Amino acid sequence: MNDLQETTVQWLTERILAGGRGDGIDRLEVKPSGRFWLGRLAPEMEVINSPIGDRFERMEPCAMGIRLKPATEPPWEFNVEVRCRVWVRRRVWVRQGSGDDAEWTKSELLAARTSVSVVDAIPGAQEIPFAQFDTLFSNATSVQDHSVTIRIERQRSRGQLPDLVVSCVNTSNIRDRQPVDPCLYEVEMRLSRLETSPFLLEGLPDSFRYDRQVPAYGINCGVVQESQDFRTTDLVVVDRGRPRYWHMERPEPNLTFETLANDPMPHLEQLVEAHRDWGAEEWSANRLAERASEEKWTSAMREEAEEGANAYREEARRLQAGLGSLRADPTLLRCFQLTNRAMKRSSRGKYEGWRSFQIGFLLANLECLRDSANSEDETSDPVEILWFATGGGKTETYLGLLVMAAFHDRLTGKTSGITAWSRFPLRLLSLQQTQRFANAVAAAELVRKEEGIGGATFSLGFFVGQGGTPNKIERDSKPGFPDPDDPEMPAQNQILMACPFCDSGIEMGFDRRTWRLAHRCASDECVWGDKPLPFYVVDSEIFRFLPTIVVGTLDKVALIGFQAAMRGFIGSPSGICSGEMHGYTYAERSKSPNGCQVPDCDRPRNPLPMDAKRYRPSIRLQDELHLLRDSLGAIDAHYESLLDYLIEKTSDFRPKIIASSATLTGYRQQCDVLYRRQGRVFPALGPTATESFWTVESDDLLRRYVAIAPRGATLEFAADRIVTILQTAVRDLLTDQNGVRAALGVDDEEAKMLVDLYGTDVVYGNTIRDLDASVRSPETQIPLEPLKTATLTGHTPFPEVRDTLERLEHPEEDFNERLHVIAASTMMSHGVDIDRLNVMLMLGVPLTTAEFIQATARIGRKHPGLVFVLHKMALERDASVHRSFTSFVRQGDRFVEPIPISRRSANVLRRTFAGLEQSRQLQLLEPSCGARLTTVANLARFVSDGGMSSATELDELAEMLGLEGDLDERLRSELQVLVETFFRQLDNPPSDAIFPSDLYIPSGPMRSLRDVEEQAPVRD
Ligand SMILES: [Zn+2]
Ligand SMILES: [Zn+2]
Repeated sequence: MNDLQETTVQWLTERILAGGRGDGIDRLEVKPSGRFWLGRLAPEMEVINSPIGDRFERMEPCAMGIRLKPATEPPWEFNVEVRCRVWVRRRVWVRQGSGDDAEWTKSELLAARTSVSVVDAIPGAQEIPFAQFDTLFSNATSVQDHSVTIRIERQRSRGQLPDLVVSCVNTSNIRDRQPVDPCLYEVEMRLSRLETSPFLLEGLPDSFRYDRQVPAYGINCGVVQESQDFRTTDLVVVDRGRPRYWHMERPEPNLTFETLANDPMPHLEQLVEAHRDWGAEEWSANRLAERASEEKWTSAMREEAEEGANAYREEARRLQAGLGSLRADPTLLRCFQLTNRAMKRSSRGKYEGWRSFQIGFLLANLECLRDSANSEDETSDPVEILWFATGGGKTETYLGLLVMAAFHDRLTGKTSGITAWSRFPLRLLSLQQTQRFANAVAAAELVRKEEGIGGATFSLGFFVGQGGTPNKIERDSKPGFPDPDDPEMPAQNQILMACPFCDSGIEMGFDRRTWRLAHRCASDECVWGDKPLPFYVVDSEIFRFLPTIVVGTLDKVALIGFQAAMRGFIGSPSGICSGEMHGYTYAERSKSPNGCQVPDCDRPRNPLPMDAKRYRPSIRLQDELHLLRDSLGAIDAHYESLLDYLIEKTSDFRPKIIASSATLTGYRQQCDVLYRRQGRVFPALGPTATESFWTVESDDLLRRYVAIAPRGATLEFAADRIVTILQTAVRDLLTDQNGVRAALGVDDEEAKMLVDLYGTDVVYGNTIRDLDASVRSPETQIPLEPLKTATLTGHTPFPEVRDTLERLEHPEEDFNERLHVIAASTMMSHGVDIDRLNVMLMLGVPLTTAEFIQATARIGRKHPGLVFVLHKMALERDASVHRSFTSFVRQGDRFVEPIPISRRSANVLRRTFAGLEQSRQLQLLEPSCGARLTTVANLARFVSDGGMSSATELDELAEMLGLEGDLDERLRSELQVLVETFFRQLDNPPSDAIFPSDLYIPSGPMRSLRDVEEQAPVRD
């Protein structure tokens, strides 16, 4: 099965190569240089005469070559073979009466070999005219203007011997008006009989984990080694193998949900034992010493290996501790078993169990669940980072942990409130991921009921930035806001596509009685019945019901500075409304006299049903940690400190932080800056880049990366051509053009399956400009009918994203009706998991390596994937990635740039200050004093009564931000200025200031972590 798909990937690669070079095309009506964009060499004169010099050379090279390291002293004797074709313009009689016309015809393949001798090692260059080609060319074109030269350069290197660069150069001197195309086409150079030794990879720090040997570098091309020979290629192809999750000789422990739900201990013990035994071998001092001498490790590499061994030992300790916790704590063991029962149900039979690293992560984090119930245990509480570069299954892994935490909360006295707040850094949270969360929560709810575990229903909240879902639904809505009387309104806010209990369709509705925007199951047979599903999408409903798990975007944290009802996220609500299904109450306001969030409710308020200190979430989860950088990261760092501070003050508790990251560079500093905690990674890195206990790179193709440097053509042109070629290829397969099925060795059924898997191309743009061009061009430039396109970017309206994902997942029966091209931006590189997306065209190398890793990971999730990376050769970065593309793909994680982030920016503090200070007033001072602090007048009275002062605020905020050391001195004085300015304003308020938020200089609390322009007043 996979073989067929690998064959298809190879076939599509060949079609691109042939299409770009013009293989198989012998005649053209247009000039070939305007048509072909691979495998051609421009005449050197053109490059020399170009005013943009080097840049021109990169975009339209006149030479291609191979850089080698000779293994022996000179003289060096070797053979160079060059093959190419040329195009000639000939007059032809077209049709009677229409006169004569011209057409271009291609020559035979011209090939010649010459032997070269380099006698000394003195740096310098020599040119050898390739005389045999003179005859070949003149026979082919009948003009004497084409020529090829072999250029040999001896370049200084770090070693004793120079590097040898052998190139073939198009030295043609084509006079104007000659009927030939001056470029050489389908050029290939082979070099044989030279003994070489490999390069040691340049430009990266040495690491004991990586194979640093590179046999040769291509110049303006790729290079392939075939035994002792080297050959240039027009596409640089790098294949990565699919990870395998068990590679021990001993049998894999049974990690199915079923088994772990019934009798987990023996199987978990086997796993931990296998981990211990494997490490005792692979990480042993002997093994490392052996490798150190074989691979000539430097002392830095030895140290790195020692650190790696320590990280492994720490991992082994945590696994043992996890086992110990399960043995010692029957409640925890029960939670683990119930979680497996829930996961079995929510997986819908799509998978039967866990991968070993997923169970490893759960085991390693069991300790923290126990601690979350005993808050006095002040351990070092590191941020636990799930590193998922090695394979999929990230969402399920932490869903397992969250469900387990939810059971644990219920079984240890937390009967209601939020267990975990899971945050994504992007504005648009993936709907697919939300559905998976909903399925897991629904499954856990059924298990909870079956087990007769008390407390509130397990539920899910969808808590995203504006534009996603409504903040609240008001009785008299303003234009542009959700209108409870609008029959279309509920459907516009549909988030789930299927019932999380039974997979049936969803009916949306607004229930006026309970004032709820409800998702309901459309089936009569659903186990859940026709009640609204336990899924909340409106902010005010999330405050009313405090769902067990809240998923949302990072920027929502800003609400804490101006929304009193955020208190359920850090402390506790004020009570519970006596109105049926009204839920929790918060601070009293003129519109909500008892603090109820249902409009116009004035019913009495009942006391909280549970210890107020247990409402705070047990876990904060940060997805895609590596994206928290620059100003977003700096601002969030202050808000993370705010959350920790408020929870500590209200609940004597420090929540556990779990994060996931695609890259590991700089995670230590990032955890320190964002959370003031240490970071700890799971799984620990293995002793080599391709193998650890948890995973090994297999021979099955996971993803093929193909670097393309288009020659003499714009990026847009090449992109259009590539999409055209790819779409033509699948259409040929669909209709069996020219016996393509037989050639590929597939029958009709198989062809249909391959068209399903390879018929949609994702065009990924790093810039809006590129994407706009790629969206426009299918309409104008791609000569295929029909060609259906869609976009997935941060600007795509929500319902459109939903529909597109739905169509991709469940394609139309008729190929012609399907989506053929998706123009996507970074928005799709997070959480879009569609097994049918297996071909991607990337327009330029993304600005960060992390984005490259993330975006390409969307492709080939289940089947072999194919990623074409179209390099913008005019850009130095793209050109440099092209030169070392193989290492870039194989060792991508080491290319990941350090993450720029700081918490000590005074500028950032000026932006966050109002939110931090106002949160203190709203979330701590107001609830404890019982008065409203929502107007300037009230707040001024509070101050004159001694409720707060500039001294208390300065001390508290400094504590919150952890401003202690000398390095924080500057930030502390900035804080002092801000606090004092605020109190001066309060003493002497501007005449138009009504709300405390009007007093802040330079600005009030941020509305979102991303925009700094808008501020929100606290309403009374
Ligand atoms: Zn249902
Ligand atoms: Zn009420």
